[in-house]
Amino acid sequence: MHIAIAGYGSAGQAASLLLARDGHRVEVFERVAAPGPVGAGFLLQPTGMGVLLELELLDAALQLGAPVRRLFGDLPNGRRIMDMRYAELQPDLCGLGMQRGALFQLLHAARSTATQLHFDAPVQSVEPELGRLTTADGRQHGPFDLVIAADGSGSQLRDALGPQRLNRPYPWGALWCLLPAGDWPYADELRQRYRGARRMIGLLPVGRRGADPSPHLSFFWSLPTSDFDAWRERGMDTWRSELAELWPEAREVFDGLPADPADLARASYRDAVLKRWHHGRLCAIGDAAHAMSPQLGQGVNMALLDALALRDALRAEPKIEAALPRYAAERRAHVSSYQLWSRWLTPLFQSDHDAIARLRDLLFLPLSRLPGSRGQSLSVLSGIQQGLFGRRRINPGLLQHLERHQR
Ligand SMILES: Cc1cc2nc3c(=O)[nH]c(=O)nc-3n(C[C@H](O)[C@H](O)[C@H](O)COP(=O)(O)OP(=O)(O)OC[C@H]3O[C@@H](n4cnc5c(N)ncnc54)[C@H](O)[C@@H]3O)c2cc1C
Repeated sequence: MHIAIAGYGSAGQAASLLLARDGHRVEVFERVAAPGPVGAGFLLQPTGMGVLLELELLDAALQLGAPVRRLFGDLPNGRRIMDMRYAELQPDLCGLGMQRGALFQLLHAARSTATQLHFDAPVQSVEPELGRLTTADGRQHGPFDLVIAADGSGSQLRDALGPQRLNRPYPWGALWCLLPAGDWPYADELRQRYRGARRMIGLLPVGRRGADPSPHLSFFWSLPTSDFDAWRERGMDTWRSELAELWPEAREVFDGLPADPADLARASYRDAVLKRWHHGRLCAIGDAAHAMSPQLGQGVNMALLDALALRDALRAEPKIEAALPRYAAERRAHVSSYQLWSRWLTPLFQSDHDAIARLRDLLFLPLSRLPGSRGQSLSVLSGIQQGLFGRRRINPGLLQHLERHQR
């Protein structure tokens, strides 16, 4: 097939790689002139690692990233709020913290030379029935057998799929950047520090990238998007004092923060729930199909799973009219459970709701320890929850790889 992909983020990169390897003729249209990673780092879950295994890129990712075995969050007074270990699900299981640039380069280096990459080519509109698209310079491209909208959470192209159930920005966002890990003692733990629901700091080990051998942490600071400018005006010294007061043990790590506030990336999120994932010859993958807050750390993983499910649907059903419903059916149960969890959980960690935060502080850990709910919490956090009570199977090949890597 002749396939167009709009967007060269994790979803577009993975889809272009998988589809080109199956012999499809792929053209990518990316808005920016020099694509690269946006933001700092992310947590790859067992689900996403399974896709990298399929792409034969898992060993390279394991060389670069940092295995994350524990997810831990507490308050300044030492009270634990979250404490989970992947090994409680399966011995040897872990997440993998990675720098965004490391994953971008891995996928980019593995691309097929036959894939045509059009950079500085924002797609302005799509005609789903005809499989044609128009770029911002007014040029028409196609017809294609399939057009894939992989243009991220602010997708313009999802409108062509028809009315949506939900599409709204979340009032809270984040500032994030990479920091040298130095002597930070929690080399295999995601650590978070909270005060109420209004303050949250995250430090995630994300390993290294390219020629730089030094390990890094991905730093995350939560704040309302309407407060970005006021934060900048308050000045870095005020902010540093607040950070040190909230998390004195991390003071040395915070010394690595940039002097210029412009060097911290700003992130805003959106909740988008589609009624239809496909229409005519158009389908959506990644955040374009299901933008959500990053509280559960699943977006990149979902993007990779979407790309794999789309490839498999095209293998199983040679006709687009049958392949696209098959793709959507395969992904819906998994995605919708995370849409639900993320809408429930995000206000517990990023909102103005002090009363909810007090309840969280009292109940989150004890509830997650109850028999039954322990396994459920672990499977939600590790990305394998499917529907209300189901679980995705963890690829046995992945467990063998992880075991080998740990030796
Ligand atoms: C602070 C933060 C922390 C996160 N942490 C995690 C985590 O730990 N684990 C995890 O799995 N996920 C995490 N996520 C979520 C994750 O980053 C996203 O879900 C993921 O990047 C989505 O990938 P994508 O390819 O769908 O979209 P994107 O990465 O946004 O890529 C979209 C691409 O499309 C391009 N584009 C946009 N419009 C057009 C157009 N009109 N024409 C052509 N190209 C276009 C953009 O330039 C971009 O290159 C986090 C997100 C944030 C904000």
